Amino acid sequence: MSIVDTASAYRIKGVTKTYQQKGRVVNALTGVDIDIAQGDFVTIQGPTGGGKSTFLQLLGALERPTKGEVMLGDTDIAKASNADLGKVRAHEIGFVFQGFNLIPTLTAAENVDMGLEPLGLAKEERAKRVAEALMRVGLEERGDHRPGELSGGQQQRVAIARAIAKRPRVLLADEPTGNLDESMRDEILVVLEELNAEGLTLIMVTHDSAVARRAKRRLRLEKGTVRDITK
Ligand code: ADP
Ligand code: MG
Repeated sequence: MSIVDTASAYRIKGVTKTYQQKGRVVNALTGVDIDIAQGDFVTIQGPTGGGKSTFLQLLGALERPTKGEVMLGDTDIAKASNADLGKVRAHEIGFVFQGFNLIPTLTAAENVDMGLEPLGLAKEERAKRVAEALMRVGLEERGDHRPGELSGGQQQRVAIARAIAKRPRVLLADEPTGNLDESMRDEILVVLEELNAEGLTLIMVTHDSAVARRAKRRLRLEKGTVRDITK
């Protein structure tokens, strides 16, 4: 008999996140317990204010929980030093946002290269990774274009190239197709699904049920609590 051992990308236990907002306490997350397997494709749905972005920020080591444990591999994001969190963000986590967040004065290749800045790679290795990442998202011919010369779908593909050039373990995406029409949305999903098929753990916030249906696992975050709604 074989024992199936699915390694976890994240193990999250008893996580709460509280913010102070104008003297008022806001409970963004209230007791979240969940494991996310390596190589999974997870979507997170839920109403505005439900805690989705907060949850992604914890997963991305951009924030620490108020209480509880967020284990990314062997690193506890609650307890790690700021320097270690910086390393985790630089090496292990790619981020993609709804608004692309590209620098308008830089070319596509220069934007991708910027994502490699914290890794301290040699110039040749950087150039190689930029070219590879642009090819991976089908934009090898567009490296010298500025964001303003690209469609929304192409801009988001540049942002994905920037996120994967560092070869992260996890890609976190906050409404990555929220600003795109249907055909561009599909072009982004195909790229993300291919990356997931190659082993990248993909965790995506979306309002779009058509997007969520393509995930392997669906979560719903409401009033600071996570529920698994995979059917
Ligand atoms: P969602 O992404 O699902 O819309 P958020 O995680 O952005 O939800 O927000 C959850 C709750 O936490 C909201 O009430 C929001 O106002 C609050 N919140 C989020 N970030 C902060 C912050 N940096 N400071 C204060 N309150 C915040
Ligand atoms: Mg949000």
